[in-house]
Amino acid sequence: MSTTEVVLGATLTRHTTLMQVALATTAGDVLARRQRVSAVPLTPATAITVLGELARDLQHASRREGIRLVALTFALEATLDVERGTVVTLPPSGDWNHDAFTARLTTASEALLVSMSGEGALPPPLVRLVTVTDAATSGEALAGAGRGAAASLFLDLSRTVACGVWWGGHLLQRPHLGALGHLPIPGATERCACGGIGHLETRVSAQALVRRMIGLLVEAPATEAAVMRLTGGRAEALTVTEIWQLACEGDPIAEALMAGANAPLAQAILASLLLLDVERVILGGSLAYCGVSWRDDVRARLASLAPPARAHEMAERIVLAELGPDVALRGTLALANAAARGIY
Ligand SMILES: [Zn+2]
Repeated sequence: MSTTEVVLGATLTRHTTLMQVALATTAGDVLARRQRVSAVPLTPATAITVLGELARDLQHASRREGIRLVALTFALEATLDVERGTVVTLPPSGDWNHDAFTARLTTASEALLVSMSGEGALPPPLVRLVTVTDAATSGEALAGAGRGAAASLFLDLSRTVACGVWWGGHLLQRPHLGALGHLPIPGATERCACGGIGHLETRVSAQALVRRMIGLLVEAPATEAAVMRLTGGRAEALTVTEIWQLACEGDPIAEALMAGANAPLAQAILASLLLLDVERVILGGSLAYCGVSWRDDVRARLASLAPPARAHEMAERIVLAELGPDVALRGTLALANAAARGIY
């Protein structure tokens, strides 16, 4: 019986209710994918159970006779201490705080996708725990907009603002690395989820932009009419790409809102570039779906702030993410594959 060596990537998102898993060969061919939505948030223990069930499904779906797991990468929407292999915080549930989840994964992984090879004692799978942002950072660095760059920065601009750093062909992992969303913005007064006032996240996250736009509609009838037209009468379904579209069409409310986001974003990117000199700054998350015209606005704002002699060259380093909404899951597979090839 022939044995296929495989890697497993998994993400647990949406407040630990959505688990997505994918099985690939060590050559990078994706064999199967599965996902499960849980009615209640998963705890560390139930997450391991669900992972085991989905892994068995994947094994069946792969139609391979013999299969052996060589690496597993698991991504959480949490603050992690990778040196200790623990979850620092994963709000809102307290079940995850301080959990030694890497140890749970390691124990569980030895029973996942094995026992069919009959080759006697084999090394246990290589297990790695990362944040969802770090998974996306790795995906873009290895297979997306960061290909070929030794150092890149990935900005996840979605519900929150988070950042990952790829450096010298490796992912940098520290518990609070990349918390750029909590940079204070002069003049901003909205309360941030962290309890602070006027942080970047309150201006730049896709969620904050949509919420602020909807809040402004009451006093802007022309803008409200435009939003109703775009959303088919459902303002609550407004997306950040639609706000950008309105800004491009000259709507003054949308223009002011997007300028209020892009200006501090460009400042934060400039500070990061001056500090780290990365080759690429990859804009990802739902805000990046605003596309090339939005990227160009961020580039122009950065160029107007940067040292003149380097302005053009620095602005050109800002690029859009390429891997789409699956980026984190693809990133876990890319990391697991790198582990299988002995790169980590
Ligand atoms: Zn904050």
